[in-house]
Amino acid sequence: MKHTIQDMDALFAGLYQAHQGAYAMPAEEADEAIWQNWKKTWRDGLKKDLRGFPYKAAPLQVRVLQSRPFDTYTMYLVQYNGEAGMLIPALLLVPSEGLRRYRAGGPKMKAVIALAGHGAGITEICGLTPEGEFRKQGEGYQKDFALALCQRGFVVLAPEMPGFGLRRFREDCRKGPGQSSCFRMSTNLLMMGLTMAGLRVRDVMRSLDYLQALPFVDAGRIGGMGISGGGTTLMYTAALDERLRANVISGAACTYADSILSIFHCTDNYVPDIYCHAEMCDVLGLIAPRPLFLEAGRDDDIFPLRGVLHCASQLEAAYRKAGAGQNLAMDIFEGGHQISGRLSYDFLMNQL
Ligand SMILES: [Zn+2]
Repeated sequence: MKHTIQDMDALFAGLYQAHQGAYAMPAEEADEAIWQNWKKTWRDGLKKDLRGFPYKAAPLQVRVLQSRPFDTYTMYLVQYNGEAGMLIPALLLVPSEGLRRYRAGGPKMKAVIALAGHGAGITEICGLTPEGEFRKQGEGYQKDFALALCQRGFVVLAPEMPGFGLRRFREDCRKGPGQSSCFRMSTNLLMMGLTMAGLRVRDVMRSLDYLQALPFVDAGRIGGMGISGGGTTLMYTAALDERLRANVISGAACTYADSILSIFHCTDNYVPDIYCHAEMCDVLGLIAPRPLFLEAGRDDDIFPLRGVLHCASQLEAAYRKAGAGQNLAMDIFEGGHQISGRLSYDFLMNQL
């Protein structure tokens, strides 16, 4: 029988190759004008792939729902309007010392948008239980990185992404805090010609509007940090929105071929057409020359190191071409799919 059966692995390997690269980044030696044109046309192409752009913003309306003082910071639960009647809940962490200095005539503060991966949502990266109680231990793979950034002096905004935490369908809330609504939301959006990635990107853009409007935040010193699915959302947002001045993408940068197309991943990763246009390095290339830090666990089994290194080597060309080779940095640490933070927090502090 064997000789009559088509080798499907080989067939799809061929399909991968045939579809790559309508918007692949130019050769490093290509003229500056060709690179500039690539950036412009691919940004437009990426918006088309993500669907739902341009983002039409109504005037920002903010409600502060809760305020909780902790020893060195205050945590606010806020909510602001996104697109089409959507309300975006977010946790805002404000360092007490930085705020005191600002009020005494000192400088505005640096800020970071923190994007959680799959799990319990924004509570999980801010040191809280899913019920919102302060959690003394059990930080999990996301290592409370939003809280860690606040403790280093950043204002941190953690917006809840559709599908996670406070923004889930009732049926998933009943199943427990870790049950996402990604599958039904993503597939429903795809059937309506939209993508989960695009919706999340627009919500992050709206979150940038909110951060920039805060009087104690330096609007020119806002960065981003995201892990896993949050890293993917940050990648697409930073590629399109230059208000994100420095970014840390943890456990997400790889090649589509080695990760999303080879290993089981959440439905929220799938963007129609994108593989006909680009590999992940081409998306990340749109972030150059702005400072970018990639974190990857050597044993991350859903974003394999082989793909991470291939992606990074391609990306280096875009940074060299932009005259900003020093703005791209990386930390391959011992461990799996998780936040490291051993170099990345300092990177944001130094680059913003
Ligand atoms: Zn998901």
